[in-house]
Amino acid sequence: MPELPEVEVTRRALLPYVEGATVERCVVREPRLRWPVPAALATQLAGRRVERLQRRGKYLLWCFGHGTLISHLGMSGAWRIWPRDTVPLPRRHDHVDMVLPQVVVRLTDPRRFGALLWHASGSGPLAGHPLLAHLGLEPFDPRFDGAALHAGTRGRSAAINQVLLAGGIVVGVGNIYASEALFRARINPKLPARRLGAQRCEQLAVAVRDVLTEAIGVGGSTLRDFVSAAGDEGYFMREAAVYERAGLPCRVCGTPVRRLVQGQRSTYYCPRCQRC
Ligand SMILES: [Zn+2]
Repeated sequence: MPELPEVEVTRRALLPYVEGATVERCVVREPRLRWPVPAALATQLAGRRVERLQRRGKYLLWCFGHGTLISHLGMSGAWRIWPRDTVPLPRRHDHVDMVLPQVVVRLTDPRRFGALLWHASGSGPLAGHPLLAHLGLEPFDPRFDGAALHAGTRGRSAAINQVLLAGGIVVGVGNIYASEALFRARINPKLPARRLGAQRCEQLAVAVRDVLTEAIGVGGSTLRDFVSAAGDEGYFMREAAVYERAGLPCRVCGTPVRRLVQGQRSTYYCPRCQRC
């Protein structure tokens, strides 16, 4: 499942072809994604210039002068770049093409849990969109720090791992990254969030940013002109300290890594390095 790093890697790969480019055509072959792709989308985008390509959480935002195309990759989506003269015939799961001057950017999504929605400029600020309004801070926003994490966890009795995954304080900390960040900060995933002191919140905020930065770096160096969401996390996971390493020795102390199920999701931790 594409997480924030994969979306950011995708954004960086698309950036040179998309930002400032004019959409010649938008071809929607299959509008039945998680929510229907607006019927007027092709008309709305034809001849329009992409001013900025941004990201908010796991949403890729194609910002036009007259509105924003909000894209989410869902469980299995990917945007792929093809040079105009070598673009293959669309296959079964290739639902949308954005035809740009140099390339075709194609949305492939076998499970169709992704989304492609239009937010017109006239309908209010983008930040107020129902999908974006309740998102926590961006992990690379200078406002996300130990103090923000400390303030956000006061009075929260839920486990710190669950609070991170919920995304209300900081976005982008999916399962892998929560396990890895908590390991680096030596915090037990079951610890009630409110029991984290200011110093440990600072360590955790740094760990969250470091883990995500590394994941983006690895993805960015592995992918060149071809953007693939499926399997990218494998590059980061090869380096994982605890994620999916149940029973294997902790890379720091040798104690077998444990798997824990919280809210139907698996968390991995070292019982010795992350005692409390
Ligand atoms: Zn350990």
